[in-house]
Amino acid sequence: MTQETRAFQAEVQQVLNLVIHSLYSNKEIFLRELISNASDALDKLRFEAISQPELLAGDPALKIEIETDETAKTLTIRDNGIGMGFDEVVENIGTIARSGTRKFLESLSGDARKDAQLIGQFGVGFYSAFIVADKVTLTTRRAGADASEGVRWESDGKGEYQVDAIEHAPRGTEIVLHLKPEEAEFLASWRLRSLINKFSEHIAFPIRMRGVAEEEGKQAEFETVNQASALWVRPKSELKDEDYQGFFKHLTHGDGEALTYTHNRVEGSQSYVTLLYVPAKAPFDLFGAQRDERHGLKLYVKRVFIMDAAEQLLPSYLRFVRGVVDSDDLPLNVSRELLQDHKLTQQIRAAVIKRTLDMLEKLAQDDAEKYAKFYEEYGQVLKEGLTEDFANRERIAKLLRFASTSTTGPAPTVSLADYLARLRPNQTAIYYITAESHLAARHSPHLEQFAGKGVEVLLASDRIDEWALSYVHEFDGKPFVSVAKGDVDLAAIDDLPGANKPESVELPEGLADRVKSALGDKVKAVRGSSRLRDSAAVLVVDKHELSLHTQRLLKQAGQAAGAGAPNLELNPSHPLTLRLQNETDEQRFGDLARLVFEQAVLSEGGQLEDPSGFVRRLNTLMFG
Ligand code: ADP
Repeated sequence: MTQETRAFQAEVQQVLNLVIHSLYSNKEIFLRELISNASDALDKLRFEAISQPELLAGDPALKIEIETDETAKTLTIRDNGIGMGFDEVVENIGTIARSGTRKFLESLSGDARKDAQLIGQFGVGFYSAFIVADKVTLTTRRAGADASEGVRWESDGKGEYQVDAIEHAPRGTEIVLHLKPEEAEFLASWRLRSLINKFSEHIAFPIRMRGVAEEEGKQAEFETVNQASALWVRPKSELKDEDYQGFFKHLTHGDGEALTYTHNRVEGSQSYVTLLYVPAKAPFDLFGAQRDERHGLKLYVKRVFIMDAAEQLLPSYLRFVRGVVDSDDLPLNVSRELLQDHKLTQQIRAAVIKRTLDMLEKLAQDDAEKYAKFYEEYGQVLKEGLTEDFANRERIAKLLRFASTSTTGPAPTVSLADYLARLRPNQTAIYYITAESHLAARHSPHLEQFAGKGVEVLLASDRIDEWALSYVHEFDGKPFVSVAKGDVDLAAIDDLPGANKPESVELPEGLADRVKSALGDKVKAVRGSSRLRDSAAVLVVDKHELSLHTQRLLKQAGQAAGAGAPNLELNPSHPLTLRLQNETDEQRFGDLARLVFEQAVLSEGGQLEDPSGFVRRLNTLMFG
């Protein structure tokens, strides 16, 4: 028999302390965490028993038992699941096997509510036992192992633990919490039952507690205290919103709400159930490079949990979806590799995408306020779908929302359908502008002629916008056109009454050449502008080039944008243009041309190459 005292890994102790302190106000979650571990252990056994039925020998009814001892002040959580061998106990309980814990430490915010949600995501669940217990004793035996291969682990959560190899007949894991004196409330049956009801109702295995004893001095029988059936196989008509929300909490190990969900059963040549949720709050690692791609969608086959299979069943742009897929037709012994190649996988995946888009469309239609919340959390991710999911591009485009010149403020509320409903007579395109910020877009000189003609322009200022929108060539037969690129011809659209219409879009003879030679290769060409009504000048890139702000983003990221100089367009009716035209002193002409160019750079959101030179030139012209 080995008997050893070992020290926790440094990080384990740190996590333990953090868990105990940051979660104290939420202390009852320990029960959810331990029950959830027990349920996972039962899932694993049921899965292994598919190929090795002998693992269930003698004890086939999978269950979780919860028992208290008033005299000893202990609370016991017991499962007859997969159990652990000696090395597994040391590996799983005494060390931090996954890098996740380190990330957990870094992500703690000190806000108890938020940290409580993080705990599930990182899997430090077991340690939550120490919130209420001053000693924890775990005994376990792996399914299939000999009774002599039992393990006993014990710790007071203060730096060290003992592990012993012991004789242990029952299969699975028993965790005895020696409750701190002030936590005696967790000995009360009603308190435990109400917590199980709150957190663990949807565990698909029976959770059993002792009922009321029939005779004094006699122990009562165990009875099942939860629903103990997989929620998703129950008919929709039996389920209430609170059932779905309760299951969502169980699924995500958290206290968060689902914004919306969709529950569907498909019968026919193939039968499967999908239950898909959109969490109200995005996970902390929605954009992280190290996010776990498998996480999010649980694959069951005939009610048996098989694996986390988001990677196979969800495209990356729907990675915020959480839920369950339960197929009756996939083989129970499906491996990750097999699943990848299985013909049913693509079919289920397509159905998951369709159901998700249906759900989002419905939300957009029925509840604009909730849809706005959805869009705030996940709009940027959804846009990735334009670049990824060719088949559903039109549907994704319908779900997009924009700020626009027809609304006030930065909130994205305008759909493409809204836009099309406001097209001006003879308007044949959907116009948009991309910029670094909402205000840079809203106040861009590029919008002046559109304002004069009452043509709406979508204002796009998410980083991903230019890239994503470049994949949407058209919507409902109307091409997408960036107002800042190439030629934008609005001649067919009438000006609004009272708009200050430019007399000509042609520059006075020779002026373009003079300005071009003063500016050299800062600009590709100089020409008169039909875009401007109020501003003097604007920079325009050629039709197929990246916008100037995206070029800057690429440059900041260390990538060569490989674009040529922009074109400078001048407003023929602007006083500055007239002044240029009348300037005969070449030095002053050069300064003035440079200033006009620099104005255009600034109003487009760019940075001046020589800011103090700009100030000097400006002052010379103002006062000199
Ligand atoms: P998580 O459950 O998120 O992985 P925990 O700290 O709660 O993190 O548990 C660590 C590991 O210990 C689990 O992944 C599992 O391998 C093992 N474990 C915990 N509880 C049990 C149990 N009741 N039966 C079998 N293994 C368990």
